[in-house]
Amino acid sequence: MHEASIVTELLRIASDECSKNGYTKIDSIKVIVGRATGVMTDALLFAFNVLKEDTLAKEANLIIEEIPVRGVCKDCGKEFESNENYLIFECPSCGSFSVNIISGKELNITEMEVSQ
Ligand SMILES: [Zn+2]
Repeated sequence: MHEASIVTELLRIASDECSKNGYTKIDSIKVIVGRATGVMTDALLFAFNVLKEDTLAKEANLIIEEIPVRGVCKDCGKEFESNENYLIFECPSCGSFSVNIISGKELNITEMEVSQ
């Protein structure tokens, strides 16, 4: 499962940050997930709740903020935004599939709450 390997990586980064700064417990992790990543947030949450056991984040909440996809059409030059969970985007103006994705591929931790 794709989401499980993402969560494993997120937990590794979060745990490293947490212990590097002298804390022992992660209370919450906030991530942004761009819709162009194709990541299913339900699956991400599910994987998090399974994989957080035995880590510093075992009592942590995962807060997911989804970022819409923004793209520019290479044919007509129009910029558009999409909230669909697709990996292939169609220009809403001219129907071209030749688009540049300018945002929506993000997948990062943006905030983390930790305690001693
Ligand atoms: Zn277009």
